Amino acid sequence: MSEIQVKSPVSITAECDVLVVGGGPAGLCAAIAAARQGVKVVLAERYGYCGGMATAGLVGPFMTCYDAEGKQMLIQGVFRDLVERLVKEGGAIHPSEVPTASSFTSYIGPGHLHVTPFDPEILKRVADDMLTEAGVDVRYHMQFIEPLMDGKRVAGAIFAAKGGLEAVTAQMVVDCTGDGDVCFKSGAPMLIGSDGNGKMQPATMFFRIGNVDLKKVDKDIEEHLHMFYRKDGVNYRSFHWRVAEARENGDWDLDRVSIGMFRGVKEDEWSINTSRVMHVDGTDSKSLTRGEMEGRKQVEVIFNFPRKYVPGCENAKLLSVAPQIGIRETRHLLGQDTLKLDDVLGAVIPDDAILLCANSVDVHGKFGPKSNQYIAIEPGKHYGVPYGALVPKEIEGLIAAGRFISAEPDASGAIRVMPPCMGIGQAAGTAAALCVKKAIQPAQVDAQELREVLKQNGAYLG
Ligand SMILES: Cc1cc2nc3c(=O)[nH]c(=O)nc-3n(C[C@H](O)[C@H](O)[C@H](O)COP(=O)(O)OP(=O)(O)OC[C@H]3O[C@@H](n4cnc5c(N)ncnc54)[C@H](O)[C@@H]3O)c2cc1C
Repeated sequence: MSEIQVKSPVSITAECDVLVVGGGPAGLCAAIAAARQGVKVVLAERYGYCGGMATAGLVGPFMTCYDAEGKQMLIQGVFRDLVERLVKEGGAIHPSEVPTASSFTSYIGPGHLHVTPFDPEILKRVADDMLTEAGVDVRYHMQFIEPLMDGKRVAGAIFAAKGGLEAVTAQMVVDCTGDGDVCFKSGAPMLIGSDGNGKMQPATMFFRIGNVDLKKVDKDIEEHLHMFYRKDGVNYRSFHWRVAEARENGDWDLDRVSIGMFRGVKEDEWSINTSRVMHVDGTDSKSLTRGEMEGRKQVEVIFNFPRKYVPGCENAKLLSVAPQIGIRETRHLLGQDTLKLDDVLGAVIPDDAILLCANSVDVHGKFGPKSNQYIAIEPGKHYGVPYGALVPKEIEGLIAAGRFISAEPDASGAIRVMPPCMGIGQAAGTAAALCVKKAIQPAQVDAQELREVLKQNGAYLG
């Protein structure tokens, strides 16, 4: 790639204690948690709203926040506050009331206890309200370009904004970009894809449909539930008997055998998680462009399918296609500590655990385009996410949160879903505030003190 150098003036438009870059599930919770500690927080987000994959990707529901028996809500704190607020405003159904293996879970049982259906449009507004109430200075339409470095310390960031380049200076930066853009550009060691080989989980273009007759869909599923099975890593679940029929008729040419259809807050509105675009690199605009185009083509095939083949969907209407294709995996941080697959499956809870969770290992496309690696956590077990997995090596002034924290790629397949990302975000924002108050670096945070502050702020740590 050839390069040119550009010299543009950069206006400093904010100075703060904690700068959170990215307003997805992790960033939203990081910013609220930091601001609740009384420090001055700026949240910079490239889109015009928060939520990340939950809004821009139309991804939903929030996956389980409970233990593997569905008894104890493990992920609480800011996540629970957000859910309760959404419920109050008609934007979610409380997970305690959501049955497993039902329309809300696309009729999937294992690993899908008490998910949280939510409305992405209401989430956007509730996120604005909660951030504003916490005192966060929210800056939308700010695309992170590069960090402001003071030696090995990140001292803020430069953004591309409508009016040109803008800088925000900060004592601590929390990278919540999903892809770890700030960590990467700061020089923190990272891997790209699984084992650094560039192989990433497939991307998916979500879309939402309305005017679905729930009773008819439920009836068809009940009649065919005995036909659900899993073979060679491929799940044959909702409507695989009808997908096979469509394939025979020439109406289905995708490498998928089932349909992931998740009922939303309103009975007739469902999210479709089925398209699969292989080999999209979410850190590369050319690759992303191919993903968006291919994703939209697949959406057309998938949308036409239930209208013709699924009882109850004859009159379904397309409500929306996600503004951006869903990216499951890009970079992984190589942090001070790493969450390992063995620790996830062995239910290890380290001394510095900042989050407990029981989310299943779910690595899409692991053995080919149709397959998943899916390992549900055994009943009664859960694991802890170590604080050290949020702390980059070599670089100061920087904390990571969200799907790219330091985890073996398969272990990342467990904590990449939204409730853990929100719990990790809360921990990162709280740790950043502690660093500011004590004038220390993230590696010097006393994990026991951090755990105490998290508990005082509603986190469940056992
Ligand atoms: C197809 C798909 C299906 C999924 N299904 C589920 C599911 O059913 N349930 C579940 O709980 N989870 C699911 N997940 C996982 C989950 O949605 C994500 O892993 C999670 O949202 C990650 O949260 P995050 O905050 O780390 O990153 P993101 O959600 O990606 O948020 C990152 C934020 O940072 C912003 N940003 C990125 N780069 C920059 C930049 N350079 N400058 C400024 N802002 C930037 C983005 O706009 C975004 O707002 C799914 C994911 C995908 C892709």
